[in-house]
Amino acid sequence: MNGIGKLYFRYGTMGSAKTALLLTQAYNFEERGMQYLCMKPIIDDREKENVIRSRIGIERRCEWIYRDTDIYEMVKRLYEETLQVKDWILIDEAQFLSRQQVDQLARVVDDFGTHVVCYGLRTDFQSKSFEGSQRLFELADSIDEIKSTCSCGRKTIINARIDSEGNIVTDGNQVEIGGDDKYVALCRRCWRNRRIESAKRNAINFDKD
Ligand SMILES: [Zn+2]
Repeated sequence: MNGIGKLYFRYGTMGSAKTALLLTQAYNFEERGMQYLCMKPIIDDREKENVIRSRIGIERRCEWIYRDTDIYEMVKRLYEETLQVKDWILIDEAQFLSRQQVDQLARVVDDFGTHVVCYGLRTDFQSKSFEGSQRLFELADSIDEIKSTCSCGRKTIINARIDSEGNIVTDGNQVEIGGDDKYVALCRRCWRNRRIESAKRNAINFDKD
């Protein structure tokens, strides 16, 4: 039992290469012979392979975190079975963790000295906090932003949901599983302009009906 571990939250918008950074970190640990573990909350049951994969083509095996998983108990059991405490745990899609699961990760840090790095989104398509991200902002030892750039050159802030016609979607569930909607990372100003354009276009279509 030692107290050297830290809880990290590294947040960014969609397309900010969070997953690629996570996998690069994993690769660096392997090169230095450090023990680590990857985890990911699973929100889509149709997902078959437990891997974290980035668009640049690298992937690593991961443990799935279900909505009712007690992460502290899961990690404790694993450490007991393998007689080994991991140096690092890397978590992708950390916005989908529950508040309790973030608390459990904080206990993993404090009881076992494991560094836990959570990669995730700050907010949803309505610019509201995700539960997991909010708790990470409240508890993390270290918080840093992974910046990316909007097509206009400003920093992206918003993960806008767009429909098949390219209109900004403002209503709906926080997580759409299996839907056709896509996402685009925008700066705050472009988000506003695109919403105004979408509203105008919808009004014109409404007149035609
Ligand atoms: Zn912009």
